[in-house]
Amino acid sequence: MAASIHLARAGLEVLCIGPDLSEIPAVGESLDWSSPALLEALGLPMEQLIADDIATYKKHVTLKLSDGSARHYVPSAWLGRPPFNLELRTLHVDRVRLNEALRQIAMGYGVRHLHDKVVDVEIEGRKVIAANTAAGNRIACSRFIDASGSSASLFSRTFQLPVYEYGPKKVSLWSYFKVRESVEGTTLYAQAGKPGFMEWIWEIPINSDTISVGYVTSGDEMKAKRQQGRSVEDIYREELERFPRFGELLQEAETLSPFVTSFRCSVHGNVAGPNWLMVGESASMVDPMTSNGVTAALRHASEAAALLIRYRDRERLPPLATAMYSKRMEGLAKFFNCGIERVVYDWPIRRRIGALTAGDVYTIPAWSLNTVYARMRPRGVFTTLLFAGLLNLCRVAAFVFHRFCKEEEPCEVQG
Ligand SMILES: Cc1cc2nc3c(=O)[nH]c(=O)nc-3n(C[C@H](O)[C@H](O)[C@H](O)COP(=O)(O)OP(=O)(O)OC[C@H]3O[C@@H](n4cnc5c(N)ncnc54)[C@H](O)[C@@H]3O)c2cc1C
Repeated sequence: MAASIHLARAGLEVLCIGPDLSEIPAVGESLDWSSPALLEALGLPMEQLIADDIATYKKHVTLKLSDGSARHYVPSAWLGRPPFNLELRTLHVDRVRLNEALRQIAMGYGVRHLHDKVVDVEIEGRKVIAANTAAGNRIACSRFIDASGSSASLFSRTFQLPVYEYGPKKVSLWSYFKVRESVEGTTLYAQAGKPGFMEWIWEIPINSDTISVGYVTSGDEMKAKRQQGRSVEDIYREELERFPRFGELLQEAETLSPFVTSFRCSVHGNVAGPNWLMVGESASMVDPMTSNGVTAALRHASEAAALLIRYRDRERLPPLATAMYSKRMEGLAKFFNCGIERVVYDWPIRRRIGALTAGDVYTIPAWSLNTVYARMRPRGVFTTLLFAGLLNLCRVAAFVFHRFCKEEEPCEVQG
């Protein structure tokens, strides 16, 4: 939808193929600090999103452990002053309302929506020729964007693109609770000193009176719990009950029917071709704990649309421009996934320096590099390669530190 808005605003004729978004269960997300500017570019400034109760402010992230210890991750106030002038607030969004706001803007620019499903992609070499839909439509045009999300990832399957996976398969259970007061921040909860893979719970105020609460665990752990005969609702309740914050909320909610989704963090290579580009989770799925999924999707949409607009009169997109697009999207997603898996989810670093400090070790470079990317706006070959080099350096540092911590603590039980 974001890509459609950018393209239609530049005068291109856009057809968006997909389901009616109001019928899809939307999680409601905690956004990274780069998202507000990307939303503003679509015509949704932060103040308007707050005033319309589509979003709430996120001014910090708090990690709370079951032993009562906690850490607040807040960008320092000096970053908001000259010469940096960084925006220190970001948002949590109610995705149902945000999707609707985006749909209205897109319609206003003349984007047409076909409620249908692409079942087959026709190709000729590396070019996409047409998309065939479940209802029997054949859509042929000169340019295509694949925004089909991580489970479909249409073009990746069609072209058998390389894929890099991170961490185990994960499962998430989430539900919504009505609250009288919400905090202006995201709160994450985890068990102190739990060995192996780190399970966690999110609390995200998606609008003024609703919080989204989700539990994330590994697929193996979920399977083991289910094999003990526990229902999804039992598991969700038991995990939340570990934290006093949820006691009253669970009592008030007589029945819970948590939504369930499973995912595997992954990054595709070569996500652009002579007349197509992949955006959002179709190109790369970053872990929810990074709060980077929406930023990535909006960023991909903006950069993909910019390429299509710039080269609208050419028969094909220049290979160097598409290769650099691919390198940037791949590099960022690998950086976030690699960082969160090695520093937070996996045990060696977390055990050595503690979960709260591990949060700092992940958050500081992640926040900084996202900010540098937003400021530097790498687009050409030199800036893209420079930025990719910086990301690679961070990944190598995480690898070495992880290795070092693992060798120092060889007896830990692996998750
Ligand atoms: C449990 C969980 C928690 C998350 N929490 C956060 C968070 O706190 N912060 C954050 O920033 N991000 C978070 N994310 C990620 C974020 O939700 C996504 O990155 C974001 O929604 C962008 O996704 P997307 O548009 O690329 O894909 P999707 O949202 O998956 O959209 C893909 C669309 O394509 C449609 N589609 C699929 N196949 C076809 C087809 N064949 N033909 C036509 N249409 C098709 C789908 O129906 C869907 O509408 C979370 C994700 C999960 C799973």
